[in-house]
Amino acid sequence: MAADCLFCKIAAKKIPAKMVYEDDEVFAFEDINPQSPTHILLCPKKHFISLNEATEADQMVIGKLHLVAAKIARDKNLLSGYRTLFNSGEGAGQTVFHLHLHLLGGRTFDWPPG
Ligand code: AMP
Ligand code: ZN
Repeated sequence: MAADCLFCKIAAKKIPAKMVYEDDEVFAFEDINPQSPTHILLCPKKHFISLNEATEADQMVIGKLHLVAAKIARDKNLLSGYRTLFNSGEGAGQTVFHLHLHLLGGRTFDWPPG
């Protein structure tokens, strides 16, 4: 755990969040400022900043985040499609520096993204 990290504090239950999934390796909770009717953030419990800092040791958990996102999408009946994404670095819009996968659904999405 990184002492000054918002998402580590959510994992440690020191800051409240609407948790939708948790196991030994990952946790998922509702985004506080949703950009779509469903907007979930999925994180590894291990703190690392972004894909740029990930190592081979992290490859399983990065894959798992996606499979858990697909399970949540099925459970929430996101039938028309959903989007998963990482913002990696400030230039891509990253504002919280603990890797998190966005799961967005419940509306249609434009391509290319903004
Ligand atoms: P990013 O801009 O990719 O780093 O995404 C950070 C996300 O964290 C944003 O969508 C925020 O709305 C969300 N967020 C920030 N603080 C909280 C919080 N306390 N609980 C839940 N989501 C949060
Ligand atoms: Zn953290």
